[in-house]
Amino acid sequence: MDFELTEEQKALVALAKDFCRREAGPEYVNEILAKKEDERIPWELLKKLHEVGFPMLTLPEKYGGRDADLLTRIVLADTMGQYGHLAGGLLTTNWRYCTDIAVLGTEEQQEMIFNRIINEPYFSMGEGGNEPDHGCDVVFPYDEPGGGMDTFAYRDGDEYVINGEKCFIGMPNTGGEPGGLLWVFARTDKNAPVSQGVSCFLMPTETPGFSVSRVNEWIFTRMRMLADLRFDNVRVPVRNRVGEEGQGMAILQGRFFNHLTRMAMEIGRAQTIYEYTKEYAKTRVQGGKPIFEHLTVGSRIVDMLLNIERTRYLTYKTAWDYDQETKAGGILLGTLGFNLCNAAIKELGMVMCSHAAEVFGGRAALRELPIEGYIRATWGGQHAYGTGTVNLIKSMSMI
Ligand SMILES: Cc1cc2nc3c(=O)[nH]c(=O)nc-3n(C[C@H](O)[C@H](O)[C@H](O)COP(=O)(O)OP(=O)(O)OC[C@H]3O[C@@H](n4cnc5c(N)ncnc54)[C@H](O)[C@@H]3O)c2cc1C
Repeated sequence: MDFELTEEQKALVALAKDFCRREAGPEYVNEILAKKEDERIPWELLKKLHEVGFPMLTLPEKYGGRDADLLTRIVLADTMGQYGHLAGGLLTTNWRYCTDIAVLGTEEQQEMIFNRIINEPYFSMGEGGNEPDHGCDVVFPYDEPGGGMDTFAYRDGDEYVINGEKCFIGMPNTGGEPGGLLWVFARTDKNAPVSQGVSCFLMPTETPGFSVSRVNEWIFTRMRMLADLRFDNVRVPVRNRVGEEGQGMAILQGRFFNHLTRMAMEIGRAQTIYEYTKEYAKTRVQGGKPIFEHLTVGSRIVDMLLNIERTRYLTYKTAWDYDQETKAGGILLGTLGFNLCNAAIKELGMVMCSHAAEVFGGRAALRELPIEGYIRATWGGQHAYGTGTVNLIKSMSMI
């Protein structure tokens, strides 16, 4: 076992830290938060990330990328998460779709996406799986007749025609020209169990018939729209289907590994909450000594560290497993590792918020302190890729 980061990983971590300190530090975050909700997409930050080359890290070498493996991306997401959600949040979304298309896409699909990543700083992607009547049913997936997904795509010559609704979708940024790209999951067979009856399509957001029916206000910083979507006879060419017809759910499930990059930012945030709370406990004096020296407070701080360490190394180990399999030429589709990490990261967030709120006492409720923001950010991510509970239930069938 070798826990040492490679020289390249160390250099990238140093670059990420330097970038976040300079470009996405607390002052910049406050500047963004002071804006109206619908003006908070940090376009200038996207441009700077692009100039440094972060979005291109995941591209294959023949496109000028570094083919960064999952562990490298996770270490970077963890690092960036320590500086808030801005830089890492914008990057990890595209990273995961690039690695997916490199494995699953046709040459033409790869070329289209990679060239847009290279040439369009504002280009971003999103994913439409969740539906008003099918939330965790999509994540499991729930395979009973009528379960799992209603949005339907039928074939018409060399096109598919999509009709239906999605909800709570982190929309691609559409302020850039042209717009973003949505990975749409839709049934292509109404009678098959959902695990075999869904296909995946790449849909440019400017496609006629596609619309945003509602923008949801949510409790966390809005860097992108959290939207409900409508598909009214949306036509996508057959060449935009990812994988074979009926493989949509396998793609969605297999791709969960790449979502770990997004989730690893939560570990970074936990680290920040820990450092901030520890510092406070060592300086706040009650009962004649720093509260850190009261066992009930000090042991909470140690418990925070314990939770971070075990979650971080479970996540790094899972990424390492994935990378070994990928380097050996396999495609790891079983998701036990992801499910365990998902559940652990969700629990980590709640433990950190609970301990911080206790240690800060009444001050935890002050808006001028960041505790409220930590709680909102943590809460805002509890559902991601299924709740922690759902991920534990999914693990049951794999052990
Ligand atoms: C901010 C935000 C961003 C999002 N971004 C996206 C996105 O970009 N793309 C996308 O596709 N989706 C997105 N989602 C949707 C998200 O993935 C779903 O919210 C999530 O899958 C949970 O579904 P649900 O909210 O409908 O909960 P439900 O499925 O209604 O679950 C409610 C409760 O029931 C429990 N439960 C559900 N089923 C079972 C079961 N079979 N057994 C035991 N317990 C069960 C759950 O654990 C939970 O406690 C986003 C959601 C939010 C809030």
